[in-house]
Amino acid sequence: MAIADKGAWLNRFQSALAHPEAAEWRALFADQCYWRDLVAFTWNIVTLEGPDAVAAMARRQAAAAGATAFRLDPEMPGGDGGWFDFETRAARCKGHVELKDGRCTTLLTAIVELKGFEEPAGRNRIDGLVHKAVRRRRTWLDERQEHARTLGHERQPYCLIVGAGQNGLALAARLKRLGVPTLVVDAHERPGDAWRKRYKTLYLHDPIWLDHFPYLPFPDHWPLYTSKDKMADWLEAYAKLMELDVWSSTVCTKARFDEARGEWEVTVERGGERLSLRPTQLVLATGLSGGKSVPEIPGAESFKGQQYHSGDHPGGEDMTGRRCVVIGSNNSAHDICVDLWENHAASVTMIQRSPTIVVRADTMRNLSGDIPHARKEIPTEAADLLDAATPYRLRTGIQVAGTRYIRGLDAEFYDRLEGSGFQLSHGEDESGFFMAYWRRAAGYYIDVGGSDLIIEGEIAVRSGGIRAIEPDGLRMADGELLPADLIVYATGYRPMSEWAAKLISPDVEARIGPCWGLGSGTRGDPGPWEGELRNMWKPTRQPNLWFQGGNLAQSRFHSLHLALQLKARMEGLSTPVYWPEPAEASDPVPA
Ligand SMILES: Cc1cc2nc3c(=O)[nH]c(=O)nc-3n(C[C@H](O)[C@H](O)[C@H](O)COP(=O)(O)OP(=O)(O)OC[C@H]3O[C@@H](n4cnc5c(N)ncnc54)[C@H](O)[C@@H]3O)c2cc1C
Repeated sequence: MAIADKGAWLNRFQSALAHPEAAEWRALFADQCYWRDLVAFTWNIVTLEGPDAVAAMARRQAAAAGATAFRLDPEMPGGDGGWFDFETRAARCKGHVELKDGRCTTLLTAIVELKGFEEPAGRNRIDGLVHKAVRRRRTWLDERQEHARTLGHERQPYCLIVGAGQNGLALAARLKRLGVPTLVVDAHERPGDAWRKRYKTLYLHDPIWLDHFPYLPFPDHWPLYTSKDKMADWLEAYAKLMELDVWSSTVCTKARFDEARGEWEVTVERGGERLSLRPTQLVLATGLSGGKSVPEIPGAESFKGQQYHSGDHPGGEDMTGRRCVVIGSNNSAHDICVDLWENHAASVTMIQRSPTIVVRADTMRNLSGDIPHARKEIPTEAADLLDAATPYRLRTGIQVAGTRYIRGLDAEFYDRLEGSGFQLSHGEDESGFFMAYWRRAAGYYIDVGGSDLIIEGEIAVRSGGIRAIEPDGLRMADGELLPADLIVYATGYRPMSEWAAKLISPDVEARIGPCWGLGSGTRGDPGPWEGELRNMWKPTRQPNLWFQGGNLAQSRFHSLHLALQLKARMEGLSTPVYWPEPAEASDPVPA
């Protein structure tokens, strides 16, 4: 599609937005179309599907948004000439459009910065020093220490973030730049401990170019795959360099929204002291999972060996010569089995309850060498937007095709894996690993060596269920005793929304509904279809409560959207939120 056509379409779109009641939305948007808005028009993160949904949103929001100055941005790399800039009353924004026969098939509109509240960076940075003699000069250190001493005591943070993992820290860094007083609390002793305390052999699955943090990319000699301890040190350094206010060894135990005052009363325990904080906004960056999920198996308390959840696996060093059983067959289960094998366990058995999606890390690596994030000429910000320009509904079809392609490439590997007795899946609708991540953040293994050990019989796989645990092992459903010295429950975690029940109340959890998942109607992701990750980085049905989560790429990209929503509220800007109606209950793959 010629750029001129996109320019002409943008002009027509701008006119339609000026008179949304009278506009011919069906002439502008194709019958099958998607408008994904990241906070620009809706003060929400939504995908509108079909011209009627587009028209309904535009009629409700266009006047308040006051979008103007649409112009193509031919300089921005990637995106086939579809990039454009525009402004709303409140913000500068970026967009991307795809057309078919003159009508829009996909549209992305995304907030970039608030007008009048631009980040003080580049030429706009502060001086940091006055070039004249000043009695009792206050240095950067004086001010930093004073700030840290008073925040949370004499001055309340506007925003309290629970969790100093990648998500809490990325959001805090953005809020810091925007001048939003923010405090981060974390139960661990040091930022990065959520990674540091995991088993030693854990490495990131994503290549480095997906993992950069806001403002501070990794040095370009860093390895493609980062060890969890290196990541932990990075998180700690990031918190320090970005001058974030983090209270470590601080557990948030309770939060209550004071409706009359429009602020939270949050109880935290720090150094044996119970403190009350009164932030206006509360962000839960407590990880995608709630508490550890351990199945109740009769007789578990009688087991004579060691047993623990995968999250407590210290590493397999002490398991040399021991008989080890790992219950579960997803990522952690595989990684722990490999770790035990590498440490010369006498035997390693994986108990598989249901089929697992497996994708080889090497295959992913080969296929991802050319993705926008990996290409030098595309800056990370542009690659993030390019990725966001594909609505979730269309991703299902793309992933089905991608999974089919991978199955062809690795057909021999998959045959051997299935031949070993391992129950293999490619997703309920054959949409593979990525859809499983977006739908329920579980159900897969990114193979970094475990599958070969299974194929070679070095890791035994059993299915068929466990009847009971006995002092010396597991009594399987077929009556056989599987002797064990160690049982690891790699049985996952409860849902993220559980944090709302635990820290606030079950009522609030019920009101906000599930976190994460698209509403695809597939296992672990009940409908109705929402087409966006539920409750993430956007307003929830509990005023002033937000969730920040996801992998490093999502944490970097969406922390911007959440930070701007919080800043806008702090500055008292008008932020009319658009809540679309949920669509039907499933996610049929589009033709
Ligand atoms: C084998 C493996 C490979 C992985 N590879 C990747 C990868 O390549 N890329 C990627 O992005 N992710 C990867 N992950 C997932 C990674 O673990 C998560 O992305 C990451 O930990 C999420 O960060 P977070 O900040 O959301 O949560 P977390 O890191 O879980 O941090 C949450 C923090 O909240 C704190 N907290 C919780 N409750 C409270 C409370 N009540 N009071 C105070 N503090 C509290 C916790 O102490 C914790 O520090 C991988 C995971 C595994 C197991």
